[in-house]
Amino acid sequence: MSTAALIVAAGRGARAATDGGLPKQYTLVGGVSILRRTVDAFLSHHAVDAVAVVIHNDDRDLYDTAIGTPGSKLRRPIIGGATRQDSVRLGLQALSADGHSSVLIHDAARPFVSGQIISGVIAALKASPAAIAALPVTDTLKKAAPGQHVKETVPRDDLWRAQTPQGFHFEAILRAHTRAAAEHASGMTDDASIAEWAGIPVVLVPGAESNIKITTREDLAMADARLNAASASLETRTATGYDIHRFTDGDHVWLGGVKIPHAQRLDGHSDADVVLHALTDALLGTIGEGDIGQHFPPSDPQWKGAASILFLKDAARRVAERGGRIVNVDMTILAEAPKIGPHRAAMQATIGAALNLPADRIGIKATTMEGLGAVGRREGIAAMATASVEVPRSEP
Ligand code: MG
Repeated sequence: MSTAALIVAAGRGARAATDGGLPKQYTLVGGVSILRRTVDAFLSHHAVDAVAVVIHNDDRDLYDTAIGTPGSKLRRPIIGGATRQDSVRLGLQALSADGHSSVLIHDAARPFVSGQIISGVIAALKASPAAIAALPVTDTLKKAAPGQHVKETVPRDDLWRAQTPQGFHFEAILRAHTRAAAEHASGMTDDASIAEWAGIPVVLVPGAESNIKITTREDLAMADARLNAASASLETRTATGYDIHRFTDGDHVWLGGVKIPHAQRLDGHSDADVVLHALTDALLGTIGEGDIGQHFPPSDPQWKGAASILFLKDAARRVAERGGRIVNVDMTILAEAPKIGPHRAAMQATIGAALNLPADRIGIKATTMEGLGAVGRREGIAAMATASVEVPRSEP
């Protein structure tokens, strides 16, 4: 099963119109655009395989600024249509060649969606062709006549507020949207309505009060205040790592997760990737969880010849388990040869995919040792790494 996320960001957001006329999904809350926060929530979810954003034709520059350098899971943006319903259909059509079995459709203006809600919707799709996040109505509901005179109280039993993500079996929702467009069925305000119209059964899974849709200026101000309070409770931590391996007979080296042809290889129990080993140690250092040798002892035969990207992913998982987020990583490779420059982009892509980081947060530099010392005598390759993470503040 493969799952795509389709983020709908083509609206003009007139109700929250900001002073500069900036569409609200591009406004900053807590210093980061709403769209970027929303996209990151899906990019960082392990069960989401691809993310695509539907944008307004006028917003290409805004999108590029908001998203920066995309990671490998992010598709090119799709230009939307005149209505939300058109935009979703165009998004689904653009994704249809990718062969995803299901799709999560989500409002760009809901940046606080949790991993738990996303997981809940995906899990429900195993048993149902459609599943949406929703909350029971808790306020008492009034029906009013013009002039705000109450006509009656509406029983709230069995009433739910629909949120997003709304998940669907891909072919079923694409067919429903295509048919709705052909039959000019309009006025439906979410995708579950389209599914219901097409006779597709929809189940509810728990949403969250925090999963608000930022609609008004008041919502924007509240979201900003909430994030500023949250970031005040984060602390930034930085740690370093170092590794060196000696050369032995062979025809390639592994550096930064990339296989590079070379007259020798590096000796080691695993693939001897000094760059990933130094980086793994730096990440472990930020949370005080020892070093790579402690978690993956060279004495353990199961790590013989292992791809070191596994060690790096494990360290990233440990940071995430503490509620942490990697801010940036930076590496320096000490080697007389091979040349690193031609492989820098490939290393950034590999490390970026493992850590869910864009290339502008992954520094890779190289230097020779001017013939000095062991590395200078071409006896091996060394690497240094630094990592910065944000984690919830703990009392010293
Ligand atoms: Mg090592």
